[in-house]
Amino acid sequence: MDLNDSIVAIRGVGPKKAQRLNNMGIYNVEDLVSHFPRGYQDRREVTSISCLQNGIPALTSGKITMVVKEATRYKKQQILRILVEDSLSGDDATTMEVVFFHVNYLESQFIKGETYYFYGIPKVQWGKRQMVFPEFFPANSPQANMQARTILPLYPLTYGISQVELRKWMRTALEPPCVITDFLPVDILQESRLCSLDYAMHKIHFPDEKDELKAAKYRLIFNELYLLQLGLMMLARHNKAGQPGLLMYGDAKPFMDRLPFRLTDGQDRIIHEIFSDMVSGSRMNRLIQGDVGSGKTVLAAMGLYKAVISGYQGVLMAPTELLATQHEKTFKNLFRGLVRPDGKEINIALITGGMKAGTKRALLSELASGVLDIVIGTHALIQPGVEFSNLGLVVTDEQHRFGVDQRMHLNEKGEAPHILVMTATPIPRTLAVILFGDMDISLLNEKPAGRQEIITKIADGLHRLEVYDFVEQRLKMGQQAFVVTPLIVESDTLDIKSTEEVFTQLKKEFSGYQVAFLHGGMPRKEKDAIMLDFSEGRIHLLVSTVVIEVGIDVPNATVMVVENAERFGLAQLHQLRGRVGRGAEQSYCILISEGESPFAKQRAEIMASSSDGFYIAEKDLQLRGPGEFFGTRQHGLPELKLADLTRHIKILEEAKMRASETLSRDPDLSGCSTLKEKTKMFFERGLNL
Ligand code: ADP
Ligand code: MG
Repeated sequence: MDLNDSIVAIRGVGPKKAQRLNNMGIYNVEDLVSHFPRGYQDRREVTSISCLQNGIPALTSGKITMVVKEATRYKKQQILRILVEDSLSGDDATTMEVVFFHVNYLESQFIKGETYYFYGIPKVQWGKRQMVFPEFFPANSPQANMQARTILPLYPLTYGISQVELRKWMRTALEPPCVITDFLPVDILQESRLCSLDYAMHKIHFPDEKDELKAAKYRLIFNELYLLQLGLMMLARHNKAGQPGLLMYGDAKPFMDRLPFRLTDGQDRIIHEIFSDMVSGSRMNRLIQGDVGSGKTVLAAMGLYKAVISGYQGVLMAPTELLATQHEKTFKNLFRGLVRPDGKEINIALITGGMKAGTKRALLSELASGVLDIVIGTHALIQPGVEFSNLGLVVTDEQHRFGVDQRMHLNEKGEAPHILVMTATPIPRTLAVILFGDMDISLLNEKPAGRQEIITKIADGLHRLEVYDFVEQRLKMGQQAFVVTPLIVESDTLDIKSTEEVFTQLKKEFSGYQVAFLHGGMPRKEKDAIMLDFSEGRIHLLVSTVVIEVGIDVPNATVMVVENAERFGLAQLHQLRGRVGRGAEQSYCILISEGESPFAKQRAEIMASSSDGFYIAEKDLQLRGPGEFFGTRQHGLPELKLADLTRHIKILEEAKMRASETLSRDPDLSGCSTLKEKTKMFFERGLNL
């Protein structure tokens, strides 16, 4: 078959089945054969009936000695009992009973005296053996050739498509003369000892031996990682290769002199790295990785100040409007009284989606004419239509919400502005190198002095009252608290406390205090007003969804209660916990967990035992896999079907080496159009390769 053929070209796939395959994203033959098994059933061995073990799936065979039909109480339904005798163990043969319920049509399929295969989960008890509803086929049938004494693929299924059908279609699709042409150069195949793509695609579905499967998997994982590296490396070259950088010699001393605190050693080191990038003559492309609360904002402010006094404009982007609003406030404080080279006050503005059209238009025109020096907003700021007069520095806060493709966008704004990215998601080194291979990385691994460790406690639902008693004590002391829940409104199906429900309840219990309710769907004005009230102490207890996850900075808040903590990932919990412990007072994080799942428990224990974001990120990665951890799609990275960035480090390194060899021979792949096309397709959204 041709890989580009529509699936209806396959025998047995009609319009109805095609529709169902479409639902799984399968449209043509290539999609179909790229639908890889999620596992395999090893049916190479035939287990004799006497050797069946309770509960262990097995293929067995035997001669049918009896077929009995019994009526149940509901007359029409019947039980079919079949007695099967071990054909392998001779004289005093062991027997097994095979049972089918409610199927009248099966009886005729069993012929006494004939030998059959059965595949199922045996029940072995009191010396009796039984299989209920096993798969079965006569020993001398074509079916037996395909389904017994072989390794069978198990596919992810969808409604209305069975394993048996998928296996059949796969076989048809892969039947000769189907040949899958390789896109990898022969020398890579040889040097990395890879099997051919054709072999891999056949054997991933129908291996005869475990070794064949291993070789096939290796090859296909290599494919993904090689293309991934190739794409990212081309992006990196595009970003770095000899891009001249704007020169910014302005003196940042006036800003430093006004800082209300002394920089930590880490902050000091990184700001020097940033400043030297800004006068190096090449473009800065730097990632700052710093745990929550390590003080990244001030670094952004200093960089932006240097850009402004050097005569340029700067932009600061945050993932949420809430955070952008907070940044604006912080910046207005930090920049108060500071002036531009022409003696005028530095002009900072917040631009958001929710703004009145007129106000926004006015600000945008000020931005284009150069009246504004620094704009703060969400990623809407990099969309077409926003123009700068002299953009010099782009800072992105909390990068983990931004994609590779967005980074590309950014690079097209202005005349190659310097780029600074800040993230509080500690990314394990191996992954950082992959995701941000085009960037220099600065690590901020200490926190400002005088911070106390946050005490983390785990509570179950039964102790909720005590938890809130504790919260009340803290409020009495003049401190503030957060309560975070996973859902806004009630759900019929999930046993989860909704924010609204918790809010109503707490409002009653904490009648002497100001309790407020915040969620992502609220109008921006309302959100801002609540955050402002909270940060200035007029609200004591803030009940919210995860909108407060990222970046919110209220030093007087000392307690973070997370309801249904089992619903959150580790990295998220760490972020939430980072909302407290920002002042001098002892802070607390209390995780209320309803479920009894060992998984939830394990995570809670990791949280309680460590405050190291990097350690927690590694654990999160191990527990949940990189897909979920990163929400891979958000990063603009292609979806990896087989490769696992945490487990396949060795293959990753091999692929990386080959990719860089390939590119050193042919930097823009002009001589390998197929490979270039493949890489492009792999990234789907068409990175500018
Ligand atoms: P994050 O790295 O999570 O973005 P922030 O930049 O919000 O952290 O900083 C957290 C808090 O620490 C802020 O209140 C900030 O003013 C304060 N801070 C930052 N640097 C220092 C420092 N060197 N000494 C004392 N406090 C600092
Ligand atoms: Mg921050």
